[in-house]
Amino acid sequence: MDLIDFPPPPAQDVEALRAEVRAFLAEELATRRPQDRARSWSGFDADFSRKVGARGWIGMTWPKRYGGHERSALERYVVLEEMLAAGAPVAAHWFADRQSGPLLLKVGSEEQRRTLLPRMAAGECCFCIGMSEPDSGSDLAAVRTRAVPVEGGFVVNGTKLWTTYAHHAHFMILFCRTGGAEERHGGTSQFLVDLKTPGITIRPIADLAGEHHFNEVVFEDAFLPSSALLGQLGDGWNQVVGELAFERSGPERFLSSFTLLVELVRALGPNPSEQAAVAAGRLTAHLLVLRRLSRSVAGMLQNGENPALQAALVKDLGAIFEQEIPDIARQLVDAEPSQRSTRDFSAVLAHTILNVPSFSLRGGTREILRGIIARGLGLR
Ligand SMILES: Cc1cc2nc3c(=O)[nH]c(=O)nc-3n(C[C@H](O)[C@H](O)[C@H](O)COP(=O)(O)OP(=O)(O)OC[C@H]3O[C@@H](n4cnc5c(N)ncnc54)[C@H](O)[C@@H]3O)c2cc1C
Repeated sequence: MDLIDFPPPPAQDVEALRAEVRAFLAEELATRRPQDRARSWSGFDADFSRKVGARGWIGMTWPKRYGGHERSALERYVVLEEMLAAGAPVAAHWFADRQSGPLLLKVGSEEQRRTLLPRMAAGECCFCIGMSEPDSGSDLAAVRTRAVPVEGGFVVNGTKLWTTYAHHAHFMILFCRTGGAEERHGGTSQFLVDLKTPGITIRPIADLAGEHHFNEVVFEDAFLPSSALLGQLGDGWNQVVGELAFERSGPERFLSSFTLLVELVRALGPNPSEQAAVAAGRLTAHLLVLRRLSRSVAGMLQNGENPALQAALVKDLGAIFEQEIPDIARQLVDAEPSQRSTRDFSAVLAHTILNVPSFSLRGGTREILRGIIARGLGLR
């Protein structure tokens, strides 16, 4: 069996930056309720994102000529970690910062980079990810949405599903078929889609908690100019696989239930029972290990490596951790979960319980990640 390497995270003194971010968040989020903080990276606030952009905390590692700040992956990690631990509403800039911006830097044309990256870094341009479809989630290469070449561009038909914040986004990174279905991976491409394009309809889908963040996006003869092609025609699969490493490794993959952990410790008070102290200590130790692994992946990304295997492992272990917190909290604190409760612990518990099933689905399901890990260990 091959071992999976997690090299030491990059070493750098980032405490001054951490203090700066904490002070900013303490002021900006002073009145944010725990049940809103519990939405973690699903919280959406365009004004907040613009303020984060003005601080220079979006696109931190990108070149300055594209509006970035040429800071290290570790500095970006610190900002992200503080934002997520505080339950800041990052969703308006999240997808651009984490995924779409790095993708543009890697495969985008000079024009795409120059026009969009500075707007993303300013927190003024919201992106969504159009990968999944009604019959294509885990088996992404089975996508049926198709872009057909026509004079001056492409015409797109098909349906995307579960597209988070498409209703607020300015652009979608569309993954679709441009070749025959028999070509599987080779017949796919990515496009940069302006969501104001005629022929695109965005319909809301409510989640288990009754909230609207994801959508169905229908393309009916939507015309995209040739300049919308992202990267190489037919290279969509290679591009999308590289993109997934950005999506799977960050602190968002183990901090989704963090607000509940905070409320749990608060509810247990300064003198918890021995059983409660052991449980809280175990969760904290687990959290620190995940953090070490995730920071290692940040370092690998900084070195230009492709840590897809390590990212899959962090996401799988992270989802297990995030999903066990509500069960442990319920065993330790006698309180009914209720979204309408005025007791913070009960409201946060209810929100988290309704959202945990999604943690091992979004960004790749548990079974798919374990397949990747097994292959990396040489077991498949
Ligand atoms: C909150 C949330 C936000 C999301 N946001 C987005 C978004 O913004 N953009 C986007 O494109 N998608 C988004 N998704 C979709 C997400 O990527 C898919 O739900 C996920 O990839 C699974 O696809 P599916 O839902 O079609 O399930 P399926 O692929 O049908 O899987 C159903 C079950 O079968 C199992 N399974 C499937 N294939 C195998 C296999 N080969 N071996 C073993 N088991 C298997 C799966 O693990 C799973 O348990 C989001 C999902 C959630 C929950």
